[in-house]
Amino acid sequence: MTNRVTVAALDAWLRAFAGLVAEHEDELSRLDAAIGDADHGANMNRGLTAATAALDALAAGEPPPAAGAVLSRVGMTLISTVGGASGPLFGTFFLRMGTTLGDHETPTVETLAAALRAGLAGVVQRGKAEVGDKTMYDALAPAVEAFEAALAAGEPLAGALAAASKAADDGCTATIPLVARKGRASYLGERSVGHQDPGATTVGLFFRAALDAGIDAAAAGREAG
Ligand code: ADP
Ligand code: MG
Repeated sequence: MTNRVTVAALDAWLRAFAGLVAEHEDELSRLDAAIGDADHGANMNRGLTAATAALDALAAGEPPPAAGAVLSRVGMTLISTVGGASGPLFGTFFLRMGTTLGDHETPTVETLAAALRAGLAGVVQRGKAEVGDKTMYDALAPAVEAFEAALAAGEPLAGALAAASKAADDGCTATIPLVARKGRASYLGERSVGHQDPGATTVGLFFRAALDAGIDAAAAGREAG
């Protein structure tokens, strides 16, 4: 039996992410007010509201979209609707995930892991962030690592996502004492210390959304893999 993820599950995850960002918009913008320009919550909420509408349009079409199309659509929408640094960065993350998921109707959990890894690589390629720069990377990189490690240890998808979510949350908290070295917050230098990075916080919401949406592997009987 191969554990697979359905397109419906990925769609539910993305919608849950949009819902959490809408709920936490003010908090995300408050975090950005401390070390940036107070627009991160509004940026992400605007982008993900548009992405949800794009998902509706995609779902209404025929044939039903493959996994890659769903993720790529979200990525393209973020890039085209969010002006801040986070639009291209999160947009690239989802676009790269989409490229890796490709035409699969029900990707395996291993393909999902490869997609997350490719998304992370896209963020690095675009933003050049390294460990400890106090960016979204500091939540995303440990989350991807924890996800891969949990799968390698035989955890089911839900367990691997829980591990990723915990690693992302720990990564967020770990940004608090850091000096920002990338993005707008880096202009503050030492004064960025003591504040949690907004983009990292959004990454935490992304993995929490998977848990909220109840994402787990389905032993799908479809051919695609
Ligand atoms: P802007 O900084 O343009 O106002 P946002 O406020 O929406 O954009 O997003 C800020 C977030 O983007 C930061 O909290 C950080 O996590 C992330 N970020 C900024 N620059 C980079 C970078 N070079 N690499 C990775 N993440 C970055
Ligand atoms: Mg900002």
